[in-house]
Amino acid sequence: MSAYEHEVKALLGAAGVPVPRGVVVDGLDFDRAGELAEPLVLKAFGPGLVHKSDVGAVALGLSRKDLAARAADMRARLEVAGFLVEEQAEAGVELIVGLVRDPGFGPVLLTGLGGVWTEALRDTALRLCPISEEDARRMLASLRGSSVLYGSRGGPPVDVDAVVKLLMTVGGPGGLWERLELGEFELNPVIAGSSGVIAVDARYLPSPGPVAGASGAATDFLPLFEPKAVAVVGASTTRPNFGNMFLGFYRAAGVPLVAVHPTADEVAGVPAVPSLAEADVDYALVAVPAERCAEVLREARGVPFVQVMSGGFAEVGRPDLEEELAEAARAAGTRLLGPNCMGVYSPRGRQTFVGGGLGPAGPVALISQSGGLAGEVIKVGERRGLAFSRVVTVGNSADVTPAELLRWLARDEETRAVGLYLEDPRDGRELFEALQAAELPVVLLVGGRTGQGQEAAASHTGGMVSDRRVWEAVAEQAGAVLVSSQDDLIGVLAYFQAHGSRDASGGVLVVGPSGGASVLAADAFDLAGVRLDPLPPEALEALRGLGVVASGNPLEVPVGPLGRAGLVPEVVSALLRCRPYGDVVLHVNVQAFFTYGDAAEPLYAYARAVAQAQAALPGTRITLVTRNGECAPPGVEDEVRRIAAAAGIPVYRSMEAAAVAVAAGGRYGVA
Ligand code: ADP
Ligand code: MG
Repeated sequence: MSAYEHEVKALLGAAGVPVPRGVVVDGLDFDRAGELAEPLVLKAFGPGLVHKSDVGAVALGLSRKDLAARAADMRARLEVAGFLVEEQAEAGVELIVGLVRDPGFGPVLLTGLGGVWTEALRDTALRLCPISEEDARRMLASLRGSSVLYGSRGGPPVDVDAVVKLLMTVGGPGGLWERLELGEFELNPVIAGSSGVIAVDARYLPSPGPVAGASGAATDFLPLFEPKAVAVVGASTTRPNFGNMFLGFYRAAGVPLVAVHPTADEVAGVPAVPSLAEADVDYALVAVPAERCAEVLREARGVPFVQVMSGGFAEVGRPDLEEELAEAARAAGTRLLGPNCMGVYSPRGRQTFVGGGLGPAGPVALISQSGGLAGEVIKVGERRGLAFSRVVTVGNSADVTPAELLRWLARDEETRAVGLYLEDPRDGRELFEALQAAELPVVLLVGGRTGQGQEAAASHTGGMVSDRRVWEAVAEQAGAVLVSSQDDLIGVLAYFQAHGSRDASGGVLVVGPSGGASVLAADAFDLAGVRLDPLPPEALEALRGLGVVASGNPLEVPVGPLGRAGLVPEVVSALLRCRPYGDVVLHVNVQAFFTYGDAAEPLYAYARAVAQAQAALPGTRITLVTRNGECAPPGVEDEVRRIAAAAGIPVYRSMEAAAVAVAAGGRYGVA
């Protein structure tokens, strides 16, 4: 549907959005404008007139008698279907309010400063609809230029409540966003003054079309993660392939196993049956060429979960094969994981897709669109002390989706934090709702750009809805932590594994050696959005008693091979008696212990003292930063990590990584 400004304004007016009083004139007889109060605005409309000011189709500050001449002038220059004459609103702060349909996440509300300067200023905020009043206020407060709304440079403050009401009318529960079938639209500008708001321009944008809805009945994914027996389809008796590799992994993991092979009685020492129909398993892994996968699926009746490892589907331009596969799964009544995915890892269930044996079972879950990345997060994460409850890779998500898995994992008793690696939201609305419903910490890493949101770039609103910003809005609204690297994904999950998601209030105290390192620590926390509150005055006295000259927060306290291992814990205990900081970040320069000799033992003594401090301070979350760890001989860092992990202390190799993790913990507590 395309509509002219006055038609959109009629819709807005009916919904309760203030618009200027106006009349539509299709000839040159402007008598009807007599009822309007001057000054007047004359706007020409017609099929090609989109950005009206650019082509001289808007005239401001007119009196009634000017109208006919100005209209004649516009007619002479432009292809005009008619005119809108309206009252001119008083000047104020010009805002943009837009509603677009993101291809992944559905209806998104945008607001920002600027009116005609919107594109130049790029000062906008996004939220997924429906927004809450709190969302509306936070959107406005998050604008870089928000001070113009609250009264700056002697100007009167804007009626912010009226702006909030307008945002709610457009993007709130029951708002205009529910009528997006009418088209996307953009109000630019909305003029906000001290006594209200008024939308003086409104237009429709081309709509990229509806998003597909999803989901049927909820599935219990427990057998996916803890299968009683597993089948591997596609291992060879003559030419070892991926199927054989997985047979090897499963054999090592010790899960009851059967191979599916057309002729052999056994494959690589594993008993074989000729068809999946004869395998009594609740999980089957399929590693045969793409064209043959659907045929395997058709025999999967009675197997609740089938994972298709093979690639060669939608990701290489064969959506037809993928549809056939999904159809075969539906017909067999089985749930399909993938295709083009690595599978599932769950030490508790002896499920695996990585070599080198199963790690310890723990509380961290991971959903990953990429199998390779999931493998890295498992291996590197376990090296750094992460322990997984369930890891699942989803590949092309032809059937089982990340959102569905997240809903299940959020209620899984073994899982206390979930990491998500995605490249495309797939069923974005579902995912958003699953994130909102999840009460445990969710850490989100988003890779790549899909070009979504760019399609509408012809319009102001569409052009500014970049992928990254929609994801930021999703995380902000749903209370998830958005990280920007694999390292931070692991680091933040490690923090949640160690410290859970208790209320993270109380502030952050940083303690360690070196003035320079302390200043840089302050910067790292600042960048991560964490304020380091100053020490309370009583603290100075307490510290003097311990022979420490208080320098502030970060607090500089010597830690080295010759120092007293227990000094830092004593300082921390003394400070916490003055003020109960929620997080204490302790850092140590590992290099100082090894440059002039081998002082591993003093470093361990320090780590043990820190571990004892954590045991004595159960209400405080201690985090350890081992800076310059590469200067230690092999094995030393692992031992420090082991001592810390046993006490529930996460360890980071850089202040930046620790700051991101502590910030994420605090943000979660606040959200
Ligand atoms: P465009 O198609 O160029 O965006 P607009 O309808 O937004 O045209 O008009 C251009 C500018 O004129 C607006 O940004 C606003 O500053 C001003 N304007 C338009 N209509 C009104 C009005 N009714 N009252 C006050 N100012 C107006
Ligand atoms: Mg405009």
